[in-house]
Amino acid sequence: MNYKQLKFFSLVISLFILSLGLFYHTALWAFLPVVLLYLFLVSRGSAKLQANFFLNALCTAGKPNQLAITFDDGPHDFTNHILEVLEKHNVSATFFCIGTHAEKHPEMVQNMIAKGHTVGSHSYSHPVKWGTLSEKKVAEEITKGAETINKISGHKSLLFRPPFGVTNPRIARALNNTNLKVIGWDLRSLDTSIKDPEKLYKRVMRKLPGKNIILFHDSQKQTIEVLDRLLTHCKKVGINIVSLGDLLNISTHE
Ligand SMILES: [Zn+2]
Repeated sequence: MNYKQLKFFSLVISLFILSLGLFYHTALWAFLPVVLLYLFLVSRGSAKLQANFFLNALCTAGKPNQLAITFDDGPHDFTNHILEVLEKHNVSATFFCIGTHAEKHPEMVQNMIAKGHTVGSHSYSHPVKWGTLSEKKVAEEITKGAETINKISGHKSLLFRPPFGVTNPRIARALNNTNLKVIGWDLRSLDTSIKDPEKLYKRVMRKLPGKNIILFHDSQKQTIEVLDRLLTHCKKVGINIVSLGDLLNISTHE
């Protein structure tokens, strides 16, 4: 169920309870389950990009044995190491860059493009309060982030990944005014919280079967080793590392 359907069903159920009031005595608390269910589904939809609740995000492709590697939050101190690992295995990946980070390390963004990787935007400043920003502020973050990445990379990227994967009606409306495609994931590595490479690798291995888009962060040191091991494993078991464009059959830039 998406946000539009939820609003419709909530209205119908509320009207039904109201109409019951014409014949029976209905107290205000009769609306409580509807309100609670509404709030639960809205907060779940806001936090779970894969639910496609407020907008359609591309999170999987249903293609067994194909995997696209994605990195958020860079460019960062470890980005060059990540690029070396990708080069060693001769595969390409997608980097969702933060505008302010790209301004600090423009050469890293240009290096990504030069080495055949895809670059997308991950907002201008990755605000901690992303989920509570006004529509105007959200639109500024999206536009300025994309413009910054495009200017530095020399490519007009069509890809956007929302900070924290959080969406809401304001974010959905702001994105509707752009031609950006929202990209999610179906395998969250959790590399921002699992610092031990062995534990992180085990988690990725456990979750890997059947998944198409993995989310890493090039801001995490342990990700370098885990990426190397993952790519070795994929080659061994016949999982093809593909670009997001090929996996989802979309154009990633103009
Ligand atoms: Zn992020």
